[in-house]
Formats: sequence, structure tokens, C-alpha cells
Amino acid sequence: MSAVLQVEGLRKHFVSRKGFPKPRTVTVRAVEDVSFTIAPGEAFGLVGESGCGKSTVARALLRLVEPDAGRVLYRGEDLSTARGDALKALRRKLQIVFQDPYSSLDPRQSIGSALVEPMRVHGIADGAEARRRAAALLEEVGLPPAALDRLPHEFSGGQRQRIGIARALTVEPELIIADEPVSALDVSVQAQVLLLLKELRQRRGLAFLFVSHDLSVVRWFCDRVAVMYLGRIVEEGPASRVLADPLHPYARMLRDASPIPDPSRRAELPRILGEIPSAANPPSGCPFHPRCAQAMEVCSREMPRWTALAGQGGVACHLHG
Ligand code: SF4
Repeated sequence: MSAVLQVEGLRKHFVSRKGFPKPRTVTVRAVEDVSFTIAPGEAFGLVGESGCGKSTVARALLRLVEPDAGRVLYRGEDLSTARGDALKALRRKLQIVFQDPYSSLDPRQSIGSALVEPMRVHGIADGAEARRRAAALLEEVGLPPAALDRLPHEFSGGQRQRIGIARALTVEPELIIADEPVSALDVSVQAQVLLLLKELRQRRGLAFLFVSHDLSVVRWFCDRVAVMYLGRIVEEGPASRVLADPLHPYARMLRDASPIPDPSRRAELPRILGEIPSAANPPSGCPFHPRCAQAMEVCSREMPRWTALAGQGGVACHLHG
């Protein structure tokens, strides 16, 4: 079956002027040559430490930040070059759920209006029919239809995230980009929102790009996963393999630092070694080499090539070249 989403060689650099009295140009290489595909109904996880570029990838797919290079294909149609109505039609099929539901809702706009607006803009429904659909969507995400006439500040964080999910569903998307969708919520609420996302995925056959720093959540939610480090994918494959038995030393470090449900093993967990380097001044060769316990002489000189693993994804590391 053809991919819902195909990302090829995505790149995004942020250029700014910094310093006083002699400002200099600083280039932050947020995303470098990122490629992956997502199949219909598949949940694909993008994981890594804060600042690794995963949220920039999510935004660049929808051109909320304009990529510098690469292609993003939705069912073969190129989002990166689409304009006007063609872009609008493609964006309808890919919807994003943000980390902070409050900042993505207009505090002066009623929930009903926030849900009806996208349906009207995309010509799906208007007037009483749009309001009826909005009420049904609220019920589907576990909120009463009476919420239509209330304002965002009248809801808790978890309820606001449910509203954000309902709003994403108003335009009947095929793929949801969930950018750290529960990390701003209380732990007690996180599981409920994750369960809702999983139910929606199954009921509606939705595909997901699930961006998270939390490996245990990704392990539970995703079919496949890519691990990002300093703007690049360093390992990709079935979530069951990558998160249980990763090959890349960075992916192993992340796995070992992730809480696991076996209390007897927690005491043995090593801490993540060192700080993530600046994407404005990435190390030579393999960008992970200053933190890698298995680094060899070649690692500081040469960027490792991508090595495909039969049916199991791939890895970028000289140990597996
Ligand atoms: Fe470590 Fe070298 Fe592999 Fe990079 S290429 S992860 S430094 S072993």
C-alpha cells in the first residue's frame, strides 16, 4: 500500500545575527537530511532529547516553518511546492495537535466557534450542520455538547487537549501530527488523553506522526520509530526492536535512561552522559562522538553512512557500517 506521508531529505536551518558589538551570523542546523515514510493507519514515533529537531520536523511538514530543502509528499502530492487551494486541500489531510493546548486556542473564541470555523473554511459544513458535527466531536473526545458555548479558560489542561484533538478531527484528516501531545499535562491526565488518541486511531484508521521525548509512551503507542540526534535520524525501525534492542549507542543511551516498569532494574540505570552539543556548532564526523562510549578514531572524522537492516529499518553508525 502506498505511503500516506513520504518525507525526503528534509532540511531546516535557522540563521540569525548574534553578539555585540560585532554581531556574527549563526546558523542553527535544526533538521538535516531527514527522510521517512508513514503507511496508512500507521503510528510513527519521532524521539530524541529536547532540541534534537523533532518538533521542527513536525512544523516543517505542514510548512508552519518553511523547509530549506527536501520534499514532503502526501499520497504522492508534493506539499513542499503546493500553493493556494492545493496547499489548503493537502493541509486538511494532515492536522497537528500541539503540546500546549491553551496557546493553540483563542481565549476569546468559544469552543463551538473554534470547531465550526475549520469546517466552514474547508467547505465541509456550515451553520446548524457544522454545530451538530462539532457537538458530536466533543462527545467523541469525552466532553459534553454544552462545552460548545464556553471559553477555553473554563477547561482544565486535559479538557483543552481534548478540544484540540476534536478541532483537528473537524476536517476529517488522514494523519495526525501529535507534537508532545501529553507532556504539558499532569501525569494523572496523560494516560487518559493517550488512551483517547489510541481509541481514535483504531476507530478512524488514523495514521500518526507521534513526536515525543518519552520512550515509554512511544513504545506503547507506535508501530515504528525514528531516533533523532542533532537534527538527524540515527536509527529507525519497528518500535518493538528499536526501543527494546537498539543498535545505535545514542538510542541505547536513551533506552537505558528511560523509566522501565521493573523496579529491580531502576537502580542500574545510567544517566545520559554529557550535554547535547549546539546545533549551531555540531561536532565533526559523527555528531554523537563526544558523548559516545564506543567512539573510534574514524568517528570524529567521518559522518557514518546509513545502513539498511533487512526488514528492520536502519542505523547510522560506524559500528554497523
Ligand atoms: Fe559512536 Fe562512532 Fe557510532 Fe557515532 S559512529 S555512534 S561515535 S560508534
